[in-house]
Amino acid sequence: MQTLQSALSIVHARIKKAAQLANRPPESIALIAVSKTFSATAIAHAYHLGQRAFGENYVQEAITKISTLSHLRNQLIWHFIGPLQSNKTQLIATHFDWVHSLDRFKIAQRLSQQRPPHLPPLQVCLQVNISDEISKHGINSNEVTALALQVNQLKNINLRGLMAIPAPTQQPDHKPFIKLRKLLETCNQTLIQQHFPIMDTLSMGMSADLEIAIIEGATMLRIGNAIFGVRK
Ligand SMILES: *Cc1c(COP(=O)(O)O)cnc(C)c1O
Repeated sequence: MQTLQSALSIVHARIKKAAQLANRPPESIALIAVSKTFSATAIAHAYHLGQRAFGENYVQEAITKISTLSHLRNQLIWHFIGPLQSNKTQLIATHFDWVHSLDRFKIAQRLSQQRPPHLPPLQVCLQVNISDEISKHGINSNEVTALALQVNQLKNINLRGLMAIPAPTQQPDHKPFIKLRKLLETCNQTLIQQHFPIMDTLSMGMSADLEIAIIEGATMLRIGNAIFGVRK
């Protein structure tokens, strides 16, 4: 079995190589270790190897691990990347630093209202259904600007960017990543016109396609398998 240490260094080497090919500084690409289904012990191990940002999909599972690792709370950055439900927003607003899967204004309002006042604003990405899949999470491309303008009105939320999970394909496909980058650029033009801060985050790229995502401008990679191994 591959150790966590070697898996993590392979991922770092992949990022560095792709960044070089893309002529981008590797520091412009943040690595989120997606730890869903893996234990707090595995997360602590990754922490000791230098990893700081972790991604979780399921609220209850995440809260348990965040509590177990509360002694590291100030060093860790917790990203919520799973589907959002109204009855879970309070826990997310209280325990997470980032949310990548925002797709409804109602949820954004709740997250803003429920964000504890002593914490900095919640950092948020809008999830886009980039491959136009039926019954998939995320807003359609043509809804992004409207939701971005609404979310920018909320006090305890900083809109940082866009997130997408492209539909699985046989061959790695650049198109969905290009589409997300262009969407961010067009949406930013409107934000500038309305005197809102621009979005600086493209959350795209997973274990199988991180190189393509980097070439196309990803600033945050969400990597599970390639770090922690195959999920059961
Ligand atoms: C599980 C998951 C990942 C990580 O996927 P891997 O293929 O294991 O790298 C990334 N993003 C989201 C939203 C996920 O649910």
